[in-house]
Amino acid sequence: MTMIDRSRLASLYATEQRRFSESHPASLALYQRAKGSLFEGVPMHWMAKWAGGFPLFVKEGQGAHFTDVDGLRYLDLCLGDTGAMTGHAPKATVEAVKRQAEKGFTFMLPSEDHLWVAEELSRRFGLARWQFAMTATDANRFAIRLARMLTGRPKILVHNWCYHGTVDETFATLNDGVVGPRPGNLGPPVNPAVTTRVVEFNDVPALEAALAHGDVACVLAEPAMTNIGIIHPEPGYHDALRALTRRHGTLLILDETHTICAGPGGYTAAHGLTPDLLTIGKPIGGGVPCAVYGFSTEVAGRLTGRVSLAECDTGGIGGTLAGNALALAAMRATLAHVLTAEAYAKTIPLAERFQAGVESVVREFGLPWIVKRLGCRAEYWFRPDPPRNGREAAAAADFELDRFMHLFALNRGILLTPFHNMALIAPDTTAADIDRHTEVFRESVIAVVGP
Ligand code: PMP
Repeated sequence: MTMIDRSRLASLYATEQRRFSESHPASLALYQRAKGSLFEGVPMHWMAKWAGGFPLFVKEGQGAHFTDVDGLRYLDLCLGDTGAMTGHAPKATVEAVKRQAEKGFTFMLPSEDHLWVAEELSRRFGLARWQFAMTATDANRFAIRLARMLTGRPKILVHNWCYHGTVDETFATLNDGVVGPRPGNLGPPVNPAVTTRVVEFNDVPALEAALAHGDVACVLAEPAMTNIGIIHPEPGYHDALRALTRRHGTLLILDETHTICAGPGGYTAAHGLTPDLLTIGKPIGGGVPCAVYGFSTEVAGRLTGRVSLAECDTGGIGGTLAGNALALAAMRATLAHVLTAEAYAKTIPLAERFQAGVESVVREFGLPWIVKRLGCRAEYWFRPDPPRNGREAAAAADFELDRFMHLFALNRGILLTPFHNMALIAPDTTAADIDRHTEVFRESVIAVVGP
């Protein structure tokens, strides 16, 4: 961005950082104490990356807002990076969890809730058979295992700059057309080139060439990319993906963990997609840890009889707490009462309002920036046109500007999703909340480019 004066941006960031430290003495004190017991003062190392120099310490949340230990209240547009897309502590989920807590957390046995949830998932996503996991990462790992077993093939295929959780095979990127470890990949078990083929999103010829090797067990894909920013599939891409995977005997796994923002049945239902397997975690339990993976009748038929009864507990698919009673109570209540079609009827128009608000500021200041939206998720980009794929998206990242925008918003009571400029809307978010964001965004633009 040539129009942004970088030394001015650095000094603006320093001013915001001072303001953040001064206005968060209780968080700062906890952070200092945390250095005595947590590695580098944070529970997960990536939290060191939060803008501001130290993370906020949370007290409590309700709906689209939360309060920190300094007593400051925030509009939450991060919503636990989709884990709390239902809003914090949704009433129906809380009531169900309370009721179940009195009756036991985990049994390693099924209940009627498992059936209800599976039936509801079939209704939403169209897949016939379901299994439970603890996290979306696990659901992806298990789906990949099944695909490898069924096809007898060693590799998987992902899109460049994808994110599907901490699944070893997916931490691969293309560098000048060559597959290698994604930058920052910690201790990969093998070079991911051994396990993974990588193509750019929306690149049909590359997809076709990669599948033609005949060694790809499955494609694991978000139906629209969301983790390197939102990248929509171009018209025809999903048709090609489906036709080519079928032609080459490769299973198609769609990861709906984030794209559930597109509607109650995710992008899959909204666009009539027909994956062989589908994975989803995060918000389906209202924030209570849980995940599922589903597969078609055809996949179920191929799996039947392939696993011996004597060994089906040690096949590399499991998780003692997967499908626990508490998670199931949360999922049932969330799917029945919270993550409903009526909720989307509120959240999607609010995301449109977010988009229109940011676009009006971008227009006012003549900035070469755009806003992209998928259902109730929206974000702004520091580039003039939409990226087509992960490489273009990664090249558009602006670490300094992102950090400044985040911290500026945080100092004015708004939490955006790290580490891009993304907002997710909860059923309790209001039009006034969205307008407040537009106002703060406008102030941040004035700070960066001048009035
Ligand atoms: N799939 C997608 C598309 C994700 O964005 C994420 C996490 N951001 C995951 C899977 C993994 O979720 P978890 O970290 O809860 O396992």
